Amino acid sequence: MYPLLQADQDNQAAILDTAVTAATQFLRELPHRPAAVTPKPHDITDLPADGRGATDALAQFQARYGAEMAGSAGPRYFGFVTGGSTPAALIGDWLTAVYDQNPATDEDYAAPQVEKEAIHFLRQLLGLPDKFAGTFVSGATMSNFVGLAQGRQWAAQQQGIDVAEEGLYSLSRISVLSATPHASSYKSLAMLGMGRQNMTRIPSLSDREAMDVSALAQQLAALDEPALVIASGGTVNTVDFDDLQAIAALKQDYPFWLHVDAAFGGFAACSLRYAHLLAGWEQADSITVDAHKWLNVPYDSAMTFSRHPDLQVAVFQNTAVYLGPTHDTPAPVHWTPQNSRRFRALPAWMTLLAYGRNGYREIIERNCAQAQWLGQQIEASPQFRLLAPVRLNGVCFTLAGDPTLAVIHDYLARLRDDGRVFLTPTQYKDTPAIRASISNWQTAQNDLEICWQALQEIASE
Ligand SMILES: *Cc1c(COP(=O)(O)O)cnc(C)c1O
Repeated sequence: MYPLLQADQDNQAAILDTAVTAATQFLRELPHRPAAVTPKPHDITDLPADGRGATDALAQFQARYGAEMAGSAGPRYFGFVTGGSTPAALIGDWLTAVYDQNPATDEDYAAPQVEKEAIHFLRQLLGLPDKFAGTFVSGATMSNFVGLAQGRQWAAQQQGIDVAEEGLYSLSRISVLSATPHASSYKSLAMLGMGRQNMTRIPSLSDREAMDVSALAQQLAALDEPALVIASGGTVNTVDFDDLQAIAALKQDYPFWLHVDAAFGGFAACSLRYAHLLAGWEQADSITVDAHKWLNVPYDSAMTFSRHPDLQVAVFQNTAVYLGPTHDTPAPVHWTPQNSRRFRALPAWMTLLAYGRNGYREIIERNCAQAQWLGQQIEASPQFRLLAPVRLNGVCFTLAGDPTLAVIHDYLARLRDDGRVFLTPTQYKDTPAIRASISNWQTAQNDLEICWQALQEIASE
């Protein structure tokens, strides 16, 4: 064996201790780290001929990049929609690497069983019926892709075509209808060979991002062919929800595949106070829920739920003699774009078992109350303007005095450099805007007060 590798093998326990020390230090500092860091330019070094061993590699990493690891997993990173990692999720993720299982096949290890149990926990947490099959994927983008791929398979089937087998060559156009789709749905259409331009935007209600369902009904009535409808269970700008009940009710009159993108908004289901926002989502054909956002597990993790496992397997099956026959319950390899993959269920399983339904309800309701509080400060302040009511965990606002997008960018760059808090720019109904998404288990009221102080100070500069 290569001597340094041999030495590391002999020293594995000490190496792990070094990593634990580094991790503990990082986690202790996390609340005080700058929420985001502008990366410095780094020289790219060459691959060493002789290695350095694990401990030295870690020391090198810390010396060169350690200071630039942002506090994005910490309590005041309100950019995009970003979660952190609960203590239980973190140990689950570490041990995922230790066990290094590949839950592609289900006959050689228990990992797929743990995955099934984690999905069962999640269905219960989210109030989804057992008829939904669930699988772990790498993120909500991939979950949207998997849901829309099934929708395409279904719509093509109505045209007498098995797309997974025959390809798109003889298929007529499949309409895709949505009011406020996430960017990743466009990406999914590109990957599916359906094309970004094939998204038909249904008008939203005035002063809302939610779909005008009567406009959808009109559009569906004008179509000859079955369509795909992408509904929002929480938009990223104003956290608005389509009326999923009313959209699902249209299925009685028109044939369409209903995909609900509830990447983070799905967690509204944890709370009796907010669950009504998702009423009707159990009638969807496929659903996206992210895990690395509000479930607070490390990247990469999301779930894809489907009421049509047969279509899912029709698209993603990966038959090979050595994988054995596809039974009534095909192995995980047949369900998603990935074949070999990490034991992604373990961090989710750990955190769900560690904190249970009430633990998650507390995180969700606390983050929502914090968003409410921030919304109230903004509404009462002459320096800002609230652009939408706070419905869940997001606050969409702008600076007073009709700023341009460049002014917003400049303000947010100064805020980022200040380091106390990080927020992202957006545009809401043509108004250059800012949004804060509060989705971290660690965020406390004091963090909101620090955030509010920083927002005002930087705006007064
Ligand atoms: C974040 C998000 C996505 C994309 O999620 P990734 O995990 O980044 O792939 C899709 N839809 C919505 C509504 C989101 O908030």
